[in-house]
Amino acid sequence: MALTRPIGQPEPDASGIPPQNGDAGPVTPIAAGEAGRVTPMMEQYQDIKAANPDCLLFYRMGDFYELFFADAEIASRALGIVLTKRGKHLGADIPMCGVPIERADDYLHRLIAQGHRVAVCEQLEDPAEARKRGAKSVVRRDVVRLVTPGTLTEDSLLDAKRNNYLLAVARARLSSAGDDSRFALAWIDISTGEFRVSECDRATLSAEIARLEPGEIIVSDALYGEPDLAAFWRSLPAVIPLARDVFDGATAERRLTSFFAVSTSEAFGALTRLEITAAAACVTYVERTQIGQRPPLSPPLRESTGASMAIDQATRGNLELMRTLSGDRRGSLLDAIDRTVTAAGSRLLAQRLSAPLTDPAQIARRLDSVASFAGDAAARAEARSRLHAAPDLARSLSRLAVGRGGPRDLAAIRDGMLAAADLARALASLKDKPAEIAGAMQACRKPDGMLAAELSAALAAELPAFKREGGFVREAYDKALEESRALRDESRRFVAALQARYAEDTGIRILRIKHNNVLGYFVEVTAQHGERLMGAPFNGTFIHRQTLAGQVRFTTTELGELEAKIASAAERALGLELEIFERLVAAVMAQSVNIKECAEALSALDVASALSHLAVERDYVRPQVDDSHAFVIDGGRHVVVEQALSRDGTPFIANDCDLSPPPQTGAGRIWLLTGPNMAGKSTFLRQNALIAVLAQMGSFVPAKRAHIGVVDQLFSRVGAADDLARGRSTFMVEMVETAAILNQAGERALVILDEIGRGTATFDGLSIAWATVEHLHDVNKCRALFATHFHELTALAGRLDRLHNATVRVKEWQGDVVFLHEVVAGAADRSYGIQVAKLAGLPPSVIERAKLVLAKLEQEDRVAPKGFEDLPLFAVPRKAPQEKPESAEDLLGAALAAINPDDLSPREAMEALYMLKAKLTGTHKP
Ligand code: ADP
Ligand code: MG
Repeated sequence: MALTRPIGQPEPDASGIPPQNGDAGPVTPIAAGEAGRVTPMMEQYQDIKAANPDCLLFYRMGDFYELFFADAEIASRALGIVLTKRGKHLGADIPMCGVPIERADDYLHRLIAQGHRVAVCEQLEDPAEARKRGAKSVVRRDVVRLVTPGTLTEDSLLDAKRNNYLLAVARARLSSAGDDSRFALAWIDISTGEFRVSECDRATLSAEIARLEPGEIIVSDALYGEPDLAAFWRSLPAVIPLARDVFDGATAERRLTSFFAVSTSEAFGALTRLEITAAAACVTYVERTQIGQRPPLSPPLRESTGASMAIDQATRGNLELMRTLSGDRRGSLLDAIDRTVTAAGSRLLAQRLSAPLTDPAQIARRLDSVASFAGDAAARAEARSRLHAAPDLARSLSRLAVGRGGPRDLAAIRDGMLAAADLARALASLKDKPAEIAGAMQACRKPDGMLAAELSAALAAELPAFKREGGFVREAYDKALEESRALRDESRRFVAALQARYAEDTGIRILRIKHNNVLGYFVEVTAQHGERLMGAPFNGTFIHRQTLAGQVRFTTTELGELEAKIASAAERALGLELEIFERLVAAVMAQSVNIKECAEALSALDVASALSHLAVERDYVRPQVDDSHAFVIDGGRHVVVEQALSRDGTPFIANDCDLSPPPQTGAGRIWLLTGPNMAGKSTFLRQNALIAVLAQMGSFVPAKRAHIGVVDQLFSRVGAADDLARGRSTFMVEMVETAAILNQAGERALVILDEIGRGTATFDGLSIAWATVEHLHDVNKCRALFATHFHELTALAGRLDRLHNATVRVKEWQGDVVFLHEVVAGAADRSYGIQVAKLAGLPPSVIERAKLVLAKLEQEDRVAPKGFEDLPLFAVPRKAPQEKPESAEDLLGAALAAINPDDLSPREAMEALYMLKAKLTGTHKP
């Protein structure tokens, strides 16, 4: 359904001329001053506002969107714009603020980013139409769209390189007791038309949401209010509870099928009832927010559970897949591997990176494409240069479909189709065309060439951003349009001729014909000449309109006639242009399926050629990915660290890793990595995880050789002290996360544990680390890398047959420690803490003193070894026991008495608990 074009003219209706920011015009109240009397316009405003209570209402008045009452107060604060008053309502001032329509996107963007939702209310008729109904009648208005974070289409509101998903979550309880709920997820990117569904359980729900990073999540208000999920929903941005009917299972099938105009949901393949419920919630919400406009959604496509590597939120953050711990894209894995040349390609790359595959055949299909481009430099360069010319087809198509497109979107469709056809031709020379590339080439040729030709013929060379003022249809494209334009332009020449004639007739050389929005065309002379025109004989021709300080303005009958002619010609020309626009949009929509396939093909080719470009540039190899449990990396490197070092010309030291199950055992190996701080332990751990992610997303990897048996779950945790960047350095978080791994990791998991146990007292930490390694080895039986500063753990290799000790080599040179960053078998001989401290610039006196203390401690240790083979130095009590003034119980009592629970923040409470516990065990220094 096409909506009436909003009319961008001031509306002199019930409110009089709307005062706009910066306009010195008279302020006419939109509501009557006397209490109790409400103007028709205010009545209209309140009706519309009542229908959209949870949105800020952008109420169109002429060239502004105005906000009133509480909305105005919220928006003026949020946007930093002036809050004014406008008339009275029931005796009180009405707060008001406004944004000019040409800057509305910018303001919308800021409001959405702050979590607001906006209802955009337009004028649905020309104010002149309203006037015909009587002087007091109000221009028809209604909301044409709700702008919410998950339903954006404008480039100015979107990140070109990221998908923006609306996610619906539905739940089914399998039984009344226990936590056996199933969840269905349905997600849509309305700016590209992508539509997917999947199912999961409570344990994987948060990982799924972390993968999608939706801009907005909708749930039923019942699910939103569920006590065991309340904290979870609140931890996510933009979760909107909706009335039950949106998630009603009984009507879901009908709503979904009617949206796609199919007779049964079987048309979408096998979807569960729960998935249909979530999918229907999505389309219902889209219909409600887009008010009748239909974005070109693809039918919902089912993603089966387990099709991608499960990576939870903590692991994603930790490995800095999409952004760094501080939240920047720069420095992330995505940023380091992104060599795409189109925005759509960049989005697809991000999608693939956030969901590495688990099916070796599918992975191989993607790797084949990368290999093909990697082996043909000429074709690769050719492809990338053509892709460069391809605009964002999918987003332009969506905008056109929902009536928000402009002339430049039509041009984007044309240029995209031309670039695609061009690319398909160019790729004919590619030596090897594996399935993915061949399919993409075919899709590139699908759109009808006639459409591009028609668009080329119709569109002018320079295009305005909006269609509303016309001027985008090429000269001589349409005969009727050409006539109207000629008439309009000719009349303008008549105006110039008229000015010359009047100047001559009156002898006033500086007489001018001018135009403004209030008077239209008028004759203007200086005050001194004005007198003359008002007297005979000129007063027969010149009719006085206005006297200003220095000028006098007149009109003439002739000028009035000319003006009417110009206006009608211009109006007719604009009307014709808009008709042509709609015709072209219809022609594009008729090809929308082909255009969408073409857009997808372009992004797939962009990703494949970009990954091969990266592989060649940085010397990556094709990984071997299969169904085994192998994990062999020869000469592996860290994608991001390597690039950062190479900028300073520092080489990265490559390292091997082998977690494959030893012969005759099914279960993977665990490498226990020791070595001093700064040796490169964390880097080594992460590089192996990143290589697995890259391999399974279908990329070549930074190594000499890589053989990976599919990893289906990836876990990465960092000990609390390393995790300060996340602002939650508590030991509790570390333990909760470690618990999640030990409870969930299966035999195909890859687990990275970095300095687990360091967030607590030494003995606790060591014991927890010890037990964790044993559990991984005996129960989880997965491949794992474990970095630790607890040297004691290396003794475990004697008992656990699949535990392998490795260390990062350092050498000592003239009392300094030199990091070799080389991972070798064995255990670190000592921690080099003092050498590292020296490098860090501790005062020499402190270093000397520390060496003395260390020597003494080591001597004593050797004399009286207790417990484990060699107890760590830092476990020695810092105070001799006999110096203890009181018993632990006394200390505890005193400490407890000093605490006032009401004064503590949660974090302080946590720390107080540690302190108390430490007092009990005597490890805390009083
Ligand atoms: P650890 O975890 O052992 O304290 P990191 O992994 O944090 O050490 O590494 C410390 C620094 O050493 C890194 O920031 C990096 O600059 C450098 N580094 C680590 N591994 C390598 C390597 N293989 N080659 C070159 N430099 C490395
Ligand atoms: Mg580290």
